[in-house]
Amino acid sequence: MEKYNDIVVGSGISGLTMALLLGLNGHKVLLIEKNPRIGGSLTRFFKQGVPFDKGFHFTGGLYKNGVLYDMLTVLGIHKYIQPIYLSHEKANCFMFESEQKLFEIPSGINNLRKKLKGYFPDEGLAIDRYFDMVQKVCAQTVSIDLREISQSPDVLDEDFISLDDVLNKLTDNRLLKGLLSAYSMLYGVKPSEISFANHSSACFNLYESIARIKGGGEGFIKAFRKNFSELDIQITCNSYLTDFIEIHDKHVGRFVLNTGEEIASDRCIFTIHPKKILKILPQKYLSKAFVNRISAFESSAGFFSVGGIWDTGDSVDNFKPTMVSLCPSTNINRLLDPGYTGTPPLIIMKNLETVKGKSCQIINAFELSFPEHVSAWKDSKPGKRPSGYLAYKQQRISNITKRIIQFYPEYKNSFKVVNAASVLTYRDYLHSPDGSAYGIKQKIGQYNLFGKLPLRNLYVAGQSSLMPGLLGSMLSSFILGRSIIGKDKYNQFIGQRLCN
Ligand SMILES: Cc1cc2nc3c(=O)[nH]c(=O)nc-3n(C[C@H](O)[C@H](O)[C@H](O)COP(=O)(O)OP(=O)(O)OC[C@H]3O[C@@H](n4cnc5c(N)ncnc54)[C@H](O)[C@@H]3O)c2cc1C
Repeated sequence: MEKYNDIVVGSGISGLTMALLLGLNGHKVLLIEKNPRIGGSLTRFFKQGVPFDKGFHFTGGLYKNGVLYDMLTVLGIHKYIQPIYLSHEKANCFMFESEQKLFEIPSGINNLRKKLKGYFPDEGLAIDRYFDMVQKVCAQTVSIDLREISQSPDVLDEDFISLDDVLNKLTDNRLLKGLLSAYSMLYGVKPSEISFANHSSACFNLYESIARIKGGGEGFIKAFRKNFSELDIQITCNSYLTDFIEIHDKHVGRFVLNTGEEIASDRCIFTIHPKKILKILPQKYLSKAFVNRISAFESSAGFFSVGGIWDTGDSVDNFKPTMVSLCPSTNINRLLDPGYTGTPPLIIMKNLETVKGKSCQIINAFELSFPEHVSAWKDSKPGKRPSGYLAYKQQRISNITKRIIQFYPEYKNSFKVVNAASVLTYRDYLHSPDGSAYGIKQKIGQYNLFGKLPLRNLYVAGQSSLMPGLLGSMLSSFILGRSIIGKDKYNQFIGQRLCN
């Protein structure tokens, strides 16, 4: 029987990070993935020769000494990751359709303050106060410095006040409030439900700069694979745990795989959705309070996505990827409500990819959507969906295409839809329980599932633990990794890797 120091369950960015961090610290690791391929939301697929990313598309924190830059440096994969920055002048654009107002958001908090004061000349104080608060929160939390991370960070006042409450205290200007809270679409929680601290940590790095990665999320997967091969890290795909045996004093001795194989390991670290973990854990060791807590977690928002190609035959030499969010109104709380039945917000991204040896513009459009939108077909499986679902899908594709062409009329005769995915598609291909994009809804005052589980040598990290998105997922693995490796050894390791 094989014996490991650590089993890591789930090979998305959280599991890859955890496995490599432990491997670099001399642990023998088994990485278990249910899908036929590793990578989770980082993976891409090709349709008609066109590459599409399943989940991850862009990130902040990649600038020199940004927290993602530092994490990649520590993991030894920074050299393999090639960022493609969105335009510095308009890294992120927001169009408020009810007001017909377009805001071009530059990179860098100082540029952003200046630009917003230009848009809202009477709101200088509110704008400064908002960004001062964001910067203060980030200076005190994990989103900036890898050396200062801890699993029990200091609790801040901003953990107990919502984004909505902060904005309402700062200003009465609806458009400014709408613009500052529209970023909540990038983590899928209403401004009235997210703490200001969590919002600040999620947005800070996006304010500083936004980058895509050459090759999409696969760029990360390839980089991790290269370093895995030099360490004692084994990967098993099409695999999942079915049982925990030899449990003494709440310590699991052996882990059983779906193949029936038994594995001994000192620890097992889950990086999958909390509700999936709840289903796997041996029920008799779980308190009612624990089960109720996990069962009560709600879903963050998801997307209905359409991917297409803009093939004009023109040269695209000076192309920079762009992102624009179309918001039908400034009431972001309403737009992020699963019961909202009006036109949803739509994020349109333009990227350059190589298709059949030729550079082509790819358009990925993401309309906010929720598990509730597809609940009528929740028991159906891919390839066997009923006609009602197919009609729903067709209708959304058609609406999204119209909105893309309305915003970019130049696409009228040359935009071709190649691929579409609903919340159900994401659920089934990413093995998530509900198809939401960012795991559980991280609500103000909520006690997320992070760190130790009720059995002593079982742990959890991942996108639902601390902060959503690629960066939050990786940070959760670093923080948990620190307590597994040991604070002193971890600090020495980080110090050495960041100095080199
Ligand atoms: C459409 C979409 C767009 C997004 N865009 C962005 C973006 O632009 N920027 C950003 O930062 N974030 C984005 N996100 C969110 C981001 O992708 C996630 O926050 C992050 O990738 C989550 O990583 P993870 O490792 O925690 O989980 P996942 O990537 O979900 O990985 C979990 C893995 O565990 C596997 N698994 C599940 N159950 C089991 C089991 N029982 N046993 C073994 N394996 C199992 C799954 O197959 C999967 O491979 C997006 C998400 C979606 C869906």
